Amino acid sequence: MSTSYEPVCQSCAMPLRRPEDFGTDAKGVQLSDYCCHCYLDGHFTSTASTLDAMVEHLVAMSGEMGMSPERARRLAREKLPNLKRWQAETTGTSTPGTDRAGVSVK
Ligand SMILES: [Zn+2]
Repeated sequence: MSTSYEPVCQSCAMPLRRPEDFGTDAKGVQLSDYCCHCYLDGHFTSTASTLDAMVEHLVAMSGEMGMSPERARRLAREKLPNLKRWQAETTGTSTPGTDRAGVSVK
């Protein structure tokens, strides 16, 4: 019985704890899926529009979050592909207006 579910942003994996953490739709209604940094007023902010860009964004913010860039990158690579926003990208479901960028295999 220890499944304490904490909602996280489905774009950047930030925990959503306070009402003001949540993003809003075009009418200003709070959403349960995205944080205010990723999604505001009904559309994604331009912080990062691809999975790779989001990973780099989180790595850049790692200091603020109190972790090393290496750890931030590993966590981001691990978590982000499971999030709703990026699943379309990783499963190949086409999204209008996006090309096939970001499929770098290393
Ligand atoms: Zn977010």
